[in-house]
Amino acid sequence: MPIIPVPAATDPAAADEPEMTSLYVAHQKIYPRSVQGIFAYWRWMLVFLTQLVFYGLPWLEWGQRQAVLFDLGARRFYVFGFVLYPQDFIYLSAILVISAFALFLFTAVAGRLWCGFACPQTVYSEIFLWIERKVEGDRSARMRLDAADLSLHKVFKKSSKHLLWVALALWTGFTFVGYFTPIHVLGMAFLTGSMGSWEIFWVFFYAFATYGNAGFMREQVCKYMCPYARFQSAMFDKDTLIVSYLAERGEPRGARSKKADPKQLGLGDCVDCSLCVQVCPTGIDIRKGLQYECIGCGACIDVCDGVMDKVGYAKGLIQFTTQNAQSHHWSRQQTWRRVLRGRVLVYTAILLAVTVALLWSLAVRQPFKVDVVRDRAVLARIVAGGQIENVYRLQVMNAAEKMLYFKIEAEGLPGLSMATEHIVSVPATESKWVPVRLHLPYDATTPGSHTIHFQITSFVDNDEEVLGKVVEQSAFLVPR
Ligand code: SF4
Ligand code: SF4
Repeated sequence: MPIIPVPAATDPAAADEPEMTSLYVAHQKIYPRSVQGIFAYWRWMLVFLTQLVFYGLPWLEWGQRQAVLFDLGARRFYVFGFVLYPQDFIYLSAILVISAFALFLFTAVAGRLWCGFACPQTVYSEIFLWIERKVEGDRSARMRLDAADLSLHKVFKKSSKHLLWVALALWTGFTFVGYFTPIHVLGMAFLTGSMGSWEIFWVFFYAFATYGNAGFMREQVCKYMCPYARFQSAMFDKDTLIVSYLAERGEPRGARSKKADPKQLGLGDCVDCSLCVQVCPTGIDIRKGLQYECIGCGACIDVCDGVMDKVGYAKGLIQFTTQNAQSHHWSRQQTWRRVLRGRVLVYTAILLAVTVALLWSLAVRQPFKVDVVRDRAVLARIVAGGQIENVYRLQVMNAAEKMLYFKIEAEGLPGLSMATEHIVSVPATESKWVPVRLHLPYDATTPGSHTIHFQITSFVDNDEEVLGKVVEQSAFLVPR
């Protein structure tokens, strides 16, 4: 632990003796108290929703296969009715752009909404904390248990909690790997002890990360590891809704009897019960103002509203509001009018535009892809009959869930003809390399490189209804 010397200023006798000050403070374990209220309700709704999707999705079937499967070995992603190839990277880029703008938008409107309600770190910490509460009790019981001497009771409680944590973490790791290996196959391999080494590694690695982050690290991940907490200030402004303590109303704080008139006592509305600090998952005191550790979970709002109810004061001593609303004493309507400012509208417009473009592009997407590669070993040669031959390799990728037939044609030069099979078939979700030889009469055109086009038409059945058509450009070389 680095120690820095600080000159002692007060004691002349010790002036030459540097005082040692540690740059680090030992981590104080946080025991968040359970809380009920509207924000707790929505946080749990999001926990249910996100986990229902995460744990449930790999078990969902789509036709003959897993609905969502990222088959890295075959370089194919299956997402419901879509079969995506590495060439479909554009869709992943669009999803990343949408995620980024959604984050910008939510942050500009209401600060760290993502952190407080949907971030996996928050969600898993909440689930692990729920298990901890069920086994060890609420805040004071947990504090007493930690402070107690080692006993059979303590060992039983602690080992029960860790057993449940480990089971949940392993299930989480198993589910995660189930997105990359068909989960039924993975389950059978697990039961028969025949899981591959990479699968074992990732199940345990992901389980270990979940166990460590949600069980032990918790708020430290948000405070010290997550970069979002650091750059969020760049996305905040004075019209961003943030969790705020209304100091003008709450101060001076102080305890009082329920019947006492705070005005006569010269007190504000804060009864200094410290419950807002006790429920805070990052252990901060929101009454000190906006702090980067605040994840915007609203737990302090819920608990303070409960206190205000009990003492008979109006709710909202802690609330989601903006800095401008506080300093100008704006009404809700005035505040919301400013929240919907230019920046928010621009983010919304971009988000909508990219989302619509992505959906449109998916809707009109061809059920196959073609890559044309020139055979580099044979640039051009003269073959029987005095024809010039160029050789190509076409990678035909069938992104449909049924066998497709493809008619290959080439055009762009007078007399250009195909010397290989016109029609090829590719099984469902497979890809095939097709060698194609093109012939051109010797004196049909001038020497050099000429642009040609391959036209590939797909059919469900040989010469039946056309499913789609793609045109790929290439070059035909005529030697001197
Ligand atoms: S919960 Fe409300 S009343 Fe209690 S200390 Fe916090 S701000 Fe004051
Ligand atoms: S200060 Fe309030 S909103 Fe911020 S993290 Fe703590 S409990 Fe959540």
